[in-house]
Amino acid sequence: MNTLFTETSSMKITCHTCMHRCCLSPGQRGICLARKNSDGRIVCDNYGMVTSLALDPIEKKPLKMFRPGSLVLSVGSFGCNLKCPFCQNHEISMVGREEAEETVGAVFLSPEVLADKALACKPMGNIGVAFTYNEPLVGWEYVRDTAKLVKEAGMDNVLVTNGSASLEVLEEILPFIDAMNIDLKGFNESYYEKLGGDLESVKRFIARASEDCHVELTTLIVPGENDSVEEMEEEAGWIASLAGGAEMPLHITRFFPQYRTKDKEATDVELVYRLAGTAKKYLKNVFTGNC
Ligand code: SF4
Repeated sequence: MNTLFTETSSMKITCHTCMHRCCLSPGQRGICLARKNSDGRIVCDNYGMVTSLALDPIEKKPLKMFRPGSLVLSVGSFGCNLKCPFCQNHEISMVGREEAEETVGAVFLSPEVLADKALACKPMGNIGVAFTYNEPLVGWEYVRDTAKLVKEAGMDNVLVTNGSASLEVLEEILPFIDAMNIDLKGFNESYYEKLGGDLESVKRFIARASEDCHVELTTLIVPGENDSVEEMEEEAGWIASLAGGAEMPLHITRFFPQYRTKDKEATDVELVYRLAGTAKKYLKNVFTGNC
């Protein structure tokens, strides 16, 4: 597919991969640091550049209701289209290619090599590949190419995403993805704006993804930002309104201070349980995390 960018005047090109619609001059990188204008085309600068690779329990993604007890070969690159000040993977999500190579030691793994590694790990209980750690969809071409090979090998694909990619990108990868965990960071637009995102884009992404694949959602409760009972009422009510939404698992997790939020307190455990109780009025499968 080559329609996910448009040419504008003076050699600038607009990237359509996510809601930012970055308009890039020749050589310029987008907000995500993973895509750039190269010779008049938007290219995926992190294609195959792997910063992290581990055989993880599926519950760590987190996925509770998709092949429980299994392991999944989890791969990450660099770059992200959000700027969350509490990101636990900021060493890889907030850097571009040079830093990923020099500081984090990113190495190239072709889709073929990664799919072969997944197959080689099958005897250890591996079910396939999870695209995770940074935001995988700023490099959606690698997800698509690898996931296709993984499916051909008879294995599964998991995507852990912030759900901020465009619906065109979602359609590209959806045929190959078996399960997703999508961050729903809160349910108010001003909070999403602070993080550099857009709530409506994420809602559209969740609604479409859940039509064709197993979706679980995660909301990290950050004190003073998205921690009101009213907001959780709204969020859980909206999830329940989707087709099959009352069954959709929701993980409500506890924040710990890190990266640029070291001045905040960890979320009160009782508050996490109270918000989970609120969500349970609408949803059948609510899980708490980090408590
Ligand atoms: S994917 Fe990156 S370059 Fe493309 S619009 Fe989003 S932030 Fe900008």
